[in-house]
Amino acid sequence: MLLGILFGFIMTQIEGGVSFVGDWIKPLGTIFVKMLKLIAIPLILASLIKGISDLKDISKFRNIGLRTMLTYIGTTVIAITIGLVLVNIMQPGNGVSEETIKQLTETYANDSGVTGKISEASKQQSSGPLQFLQDMVPDNAFKAFSDNGSMLQVIFFTILFGIAMLLIGEKKAEPIKRIFDSLNDVILKIVDIIMLTAPYAVFALLANVVVSSGDPDLLLALLKYAGTVVLGLALMIGFYMVLISVFTKKNPMWVLKQLSPAQLLAFSTSSSAATLPVTMERVEEHIGVDKEVSSFVLPVGATINMDGTSLYQAVAAVFISQALGFELTIGAQLTIVLTALLASIGSAAVPGAGMVMLVIVLESINFPSELLAIGLALIFAVDRPLDMCRTVVNVTGDATVSMLVAKSVGKLGDPKPKNWDDHYDEVK
Ligand code: ASP
Repeated sequence: MLLGILFGFIMTQIEGGVSFVGDWIKPLGTIFVKMLKLIAIPLILASLIKGISDLKDISKFRNIGLRTMLTYIGTTVIAITIGLVLVNIMQPGNGVSEETIKQLTETYANDSGVTGKISEASKQQSSGPLQFLQDMVPDNAFKAFSDNGSMLQVIFFTILFGIAMLLIGEKKAEPIKRIFDSLNDVILKIVDIIMLTAPYAVFALLANVVVSSGDPDLLLALLKYAGTVVLGLALMIGFYMVLISVFTKKNPMWVLKQLSPAQLLAFSTSSSAATLPVTMERVEEHIGVDKEVSSFVLPVGATINMDGTSLYQAVAAVFISQALGFELTIGAQLTIVLTALLASIGSAAVPGAGMVMLVIVLESINFPSELLAIGLALIFAVDRPLDMCRTVVNVTGDATVSMLVAKSVGKLGDPKPKNWDDHYDEVK
């Protein structure tokens, strides 16, 4: 990571350096992220079917499902509250000068990044209240499996499939269970193999982030805002550590260490979905959460639980309002809690998705639509680094909840790490 950042800086100083990184370095990172995404759906399929079919009793599944949802909602509301309290105390928006606003507006208000996010948000918004339930149900299972954006549809079908397997009885389900058990091992081994290339890919990803980031002066002007978000995110990680130590009695430092590869990957890729295979591997093999829990909690969490994103949305919405002189009542701030909760559920687990849903949060507090582009322009310059940080929190939150749920149903055991070359000698 450090070498990648350093290399990126050097390249911005050298003529032709930026295009060199774009042409020759960036593809390595892109290939790596594609490989991780490539196995996300097969992994969910195999591990969720294995998880459910190991249950032997459907009522356990209902138990896990309910606890997961409630804990996810609880942690997200706390994240938003931390964000709101911090942004009200630190008031980062009040220090932004007219000149900076003008400069940021000129640079970014018509940028395709900003206008694209606004139009994407309006597309999502024109749907009815039960649209999300409707969207969760696929009308074609194979179509769902062929689209990474349909993670919830894949989960829906897979749960149905797993429950049906339980209902036909152990004996009849045996052949298909064996296939999926074995598929699950194969996919986890692919994760190990892909991770062998992680150091090089992370170098490439970070070098590219550095060369494509905005003007350093503008970044500096937004330091207080970015600092508020980062402080909030750090507090959130602290909160997870407290939860872990109180409820699971595991050493939080040890947990952080076990999780760190997933966190570093979340930071480098800015995508919880791309990180999912590694999160699952770390949580199951290195922390000891049983597959029955992790195979459901983690994929669902990657899609709907985004504590980092919701904290950021709360801070960003208030920051923009402060900077542009838009009064926020207590009622408006409570509206932010509710919409940021829903928006984080609706955000896709891909880079920059949190900013799209921020538009919806802003509209829910009646933020003037003619100021929307200016508002987003204000925070656009620092969005990528903040996206990297909030994705770390999103992933850590999912892992924490999986531990809490596992502990509460007696499914948190000891780690059983497997190495990439466990059977290498036999096949060499
Ligand atoms: N990039 C984030 C994630 O994948 C979502 C966001 O906040 O933009 O978790």
